[in-house]
Amino acid sequence: MKMMTESNTPQWERLHKALAIEARAGYSDIVGKQYRFSEFLCLTFGTVPPEATPQQKQRWRDLAVEFANYEKKAKLERQQLVVKASRLLKDVQEGKPDPTPETKPLQTKTPIPQGNPNLNLDQSLEDIPDIGRTRSRSLSRLGLKTVRDVLFYYPREHIDYARQVNISDLEAGETVTVVGSVRSCNCFTSPKNPKLSIFQLVIKDRTGEVKLSRFFAGTRFTNRGWQEKQKKLYPRGAIVAASGLVKKNKYGITLDNPEIEILDSQGAEIESLNIGRVLPVYPLTEGVSADVVRKAVLKVLPAADTLKDPLPSTLRKQYGFLPLPEAIKNLHFPPDHETLSHARRRLIFDEFFFLQLGFLSRRQQQRETQKSALLDPTGKLIDQFKQVLPFSLTNAQQRVVSDILQDLNSETPMNRLVQGDVGSGKTVVAVFAILAAIQSGYQAALMAPTEVLAEQHYRKLVGWFNLLHLPVELLTGSTKTAKRREIHQQLETGELPLLVGTHALIQDTVNFQQLGLVVIDEQHRFGVQQRARLLDKGHSPHVLSMTATPIPRTLALTLHGDLDVSQIDELPPGRQEIQTTALSGRERRQAYDLIRREIAQGRQAYVVLPLVEESDKLDVRSAVEEQKKLQETVFPEFKVGLLHGRMTSQEKDEALTAFRDNETQVIVSTTVIEVGVDVPNATVMLIENAERFGLSQLHQLRGRVGRGEYKSYCILMSGSKTDTAKQRLGVLEQSRDGFFISEMDMQFRGPGEVLGKRQSGLPDFALASLVEDQEVLVLAREAAEKLVLVDRNLEDYPLLKAELERRYLKLMGSTILA
Ligand code: ADP
Ligand code: MG
Repeated sequence: MKMMTESNTPQWERLHKALAIEARAGYSDIVGKQYRFSEFLCLTFGTVPPEATPQQKQRWRDLAVEFANYEKKAKLERQQLVVKASRLLKDVQEGKPDPTPETKPLQTKTPIPQGNPNLNLDQSLEDIPDIGRTRSRSLSRLGLKTVRDVLFYYPREHIDYARQVNISDLEAGETVTVVGSVRSCNCFTSPKNPKLSIFQLVIKDRTGEVKLSRFFAGTRFTNRGWQEKQKKLYPRGAIVAASGLVKKNKYGITLDNPEIEILDSQGAEIESLNIGRVLPVYPLTEGVSADVVRKAVLKVLPAADTLKDPLPSTLRKQYGFLPLPEAIKNLHFPPDHETLSHARRRLIFDEFFFLQLGFLSRRQQQRETQKSALLDPTGKLIDQFKQVLPFSLTNAQQRVVSDILQDLNSETPMNRLVQGDVGSGKTVVAVFAILAAIQSGYQAALMAPTEVLAEQHYRKLVGWFNLLHLPVELLTGSTKTAKRREIHQQLETGELPLLVGTHALIQDTVNFQQLGLVVIDEQHRFGVQQRARLLDKGHSPHVLSMTATPIPRTLALTLHGDLDVSQIDELPPGRQEIQTTALSGRERRQAYDLIRREIAQGRQAYVVLPLVEESDKLDVRSAVEEQKKLQETVFPEFKVGLLHGRMTSQEKDEALTAFRDNETQVIVSTTVIEVGVDVPNATVMLIENAERFGLSQLHQLRGRVGRGEYKSYCILMSGSKTDTAKQRLGVLEQSRDGFFISEMDMQFRGPGEVLGKRQSGLPDFALASLVEDQEVLVLAREAAEKLVLVDRNLEDYPLLKAELERRYLKLMGSTILA
């Protein structure tokens, strides 16, 4: 998007176009050539057009502010803002005068009946006279059995019919209410469909008239008597209120299947539940109508007053939250949008808060009931290690090492997650922990998800451990039986202080004499049980988890709320720049030329193909074909290797060794390359169909280059031309910060996709969104931390404790995280 011209008048066309594009892009604040959508709009609305009327000028200035905050707004609000902006543009463009003052405001009947002393929260719906047997049976299909169930059955969304507009102001795409008098009414059988009855009402107000149509399917309605009766209901001159979505069709503006009610007089109270207010929309299921649910909610809503608010009032006041009964009532039937967002905020807070409280109290419990070995950080081995280490630790590494050593120097079990980008130096950090265990007379185990990775750790550790005169062994699926036996034995006698390996570590035959520390690399790749089985090999060993796939803080809190998290947010000095470029298929030549140039200088390259589905035969075939193509037609002068998931570990090993030794200059691979491969001489990472990967995964892959002394390149080949695909890949061109990238990944793809297989651990929130409500989550965490600090068993808060037990179990279901 380009900015406006020199003149102060906005370029109307360009603005309308920008608004339309943003709407089409699902209000994602799309990025244009020069500006983000919101920046462009904010700039545009920064200059008020001289021809605007006073009211329009005010609206114009208000919008400038609103667009400045666009980023923080939820999708619904963004949508409303875009509609507002279009309308204002049109008004100014057409030189429309300021409207005369509104007609009398709508009077909607307070929908919530006043307190009904006969209702109690646990009462069965069946026993409520106005609900009865049949309806309660249908409600039970939604899992609603008691009054309480219904109160906590939150609407999925709301339709805003609260805004009353003049007929001449109707804008397609908005939900509104209009009030007018009947000019004509017609009801007849469709000429095309004898089973369809069409009801048409033309109403007018001071500003214009509009036709409302409703359709009734079924012979019951094509009956003449019924049709005549309808016409009589709406005599000329009668005042009606109608709510619905404004649509534009070839006959002009209309309300789509609106709700209509006749009023006794202009300004009379509206009876219908569905007109003139913010209307809740509930998740339904077959055979349960929206009306049945809405009516049941209204019926039981007075019982909300008997809900006891579990949140202490000090906390509620501190954050300005509504009391629970009010929040519940206003979530279901809010008088307006603002009250609704207050109610939502309070209830979203609850969802987050109880989860965090659950995590923190569980951690507290573990701390009180489990005793670990006290691992002394001051000792010979750590001192020696510091001396043999060829580099000094980065500040971030130092900070994390000291966090860890402090944890270990206590009988409270450590449960810490270290997040750090590829190459940030997590292994060294783990070594400090391992040495603390060994010098205190305990053993340690390091488990990695793949053989490649385990081996790499092993190789690095052997180097360091030799200098310290300490033995270390590797145990994987390919370890020979004789060696395996030897290892088992040395573990049992305590001779072997450190064992590195894969899942092989959790086999029954592996027994430690005294396991004091467990290190788990790429921890998210292991299942809960696998982790638990390794821990069971010691008496509450300390646990250090590591991951090179940072996830946004909000996700980390939701997923690992009971872990302590440390971040290594700094790379060791002297790391090479990785120039990242997104190319389209037509520019492939450039990519190959670059590879050729680099190889001519003695460097090497990766070519990575996306895995469409893990262990899918097709993926293997495409890798095999790609290797063939590159070898035979593109790089005949070089050696092109191949690596994929279906190869035996020996074959993989050979392929990797050949690459490491520069016997092959190019290696074609599926994503098995992702974790842990470390070849400093490789300087090009070419990723095919990059649009199919998540950003964090691409970032991981990119981390395979730039590991040596040479400048490196990452080329993202993309088959997709969509704007979003380009924007996504653009994030990588611009940033090397894994945390930022994962945050963006979540914005683009949502938490479920970002987590991939890990998403099974995500609780199912009814209202909260991990993308949109991050700020509330942070508040909830803070509040929970403070509370646990002053009263860890919640003894002074029995209501809170009871609610926690109910909620936490429900939220977490059976997925208890280790
Ligand atoms: P990752 O966090 O990806 O597991 P590694 O622990 O494998 O990273 O470290 C990457 C490389 O950087 C290794 O070769 C390691 O020895 C080296 N390294 C780690 N810390 C430093 C440091 N502070 N200064 C220089 N090199 C370091
Ligand atoms: Mg590593």
